[in-house]
Amino acid sequence: MIFEDNRLKPLEQIADEGVQTELWLAVLKLEMFVGEVDFSLQIDDLLPEGVLANCAINNNTLTLSGEYFAQSSLQTLKTMVEQTQKNKFHPVSHLSIGSVLIHELCHAVWNTICKKGIDLRTEVKAIAKDWDTYMNENQNDTLKTYAATSPEEFWAEMLTQAVDGDSEQCPDMEFAKRVLNLAVKYHM
Ligand SMILES: [Zn+2]
Repeated sequence: MIFEDNRLKPLEQIADEGVQTELWLAVLKLEMFVGEVDFSLQIDDLLPEGVLANCAINNNTLTLSGEYFAQSSLQTLKTMVEQTQKNKFHPVSHLSIGSVLIHELCHAVWNTICKKGIDLRTEVKAIAKDWDTYMNENQNDTLKTYAATSPEEFWAEMLTQAVDGDSEQCPDMEFAKRVLNLAVKYHM
């Protein structure tokens, strides 16, 4: 696929059109909710073992692991599922190709808001405190563990669920909506 949006040009390095489509759609979905996100994208193999993607705090560079995303969509998903089974602390976003990118884009949104001088950490902690209570009551749910690691991961996981989750099935949708409200308020 040829991408006219320069930010998405690196996706042309990915052979599988299914993977390309999922990643393209990921950007579209998040931006529908929170407006244009300031980021640049690169695909390379420099990420540590087992890491699918990351977002640099200082300049919003999103890196996608070439090792994972250069595979066919089926193989990419299989690797994700295998990795998720191995690692107890995994983001819910690691169960779909597009959600991995949405999660990292959410970190970019966080960085952009913080650069405006807004104390997002304090606002998110207020929501996350309720979340901690909820977590303590639902300790055995490993899908929720990653969101509880820090306000930043809580933000990324909740915002991902708000824009990409199934509202009928998502037990955290109340938290997700509150995080989305903050993103709309400060990012748009
Ligand atoms: Zn993260």
